[in-house]
Amino acid sequence: MSSSGASSSNLRPANTKDPAWKYGEYKSATEKHIVKCLLCSHLCSGGITRLKEHILHSPGANAKPCPRTTPEIRKEIEEFMNKKSESKCRRGSFYSEDFVRDIRVMMM
Ligand SMILES: [Zn+2]
Repeated sequence: MSSSGASSSNLRPANTKDPAWKYGEYKSATEKHIVKCLLCSHLCSGGITRLKEHILHSPGANAKPCPRTTPEIRKEIEEFMNKKSESKCRRGSFYSEDFVRDIRVMMM
């Protein structure tokens, strides 16, 4: 029964693809509702969503804007968020205009 923590970091969720985790980590393993910004050490209570608002300077968000974010970081996180919402509503786009045009050409 050893209590020595061998894992170097359990301050992030395992297997996350979210780039926001590059710039944040849990305050501690027991305080996962608080995420620390690695850019400016600001503590965001409200999890990774709040950290993103902090880094992205989301308008209307309650989070304090991060003083050390860069346009590159914001772009990286924004692109990830856009990709996520795109894949959610991709259904219904199978019959694209190109596809319909191709059929018309074939029928002529
Ligand atoms: Zn910050």
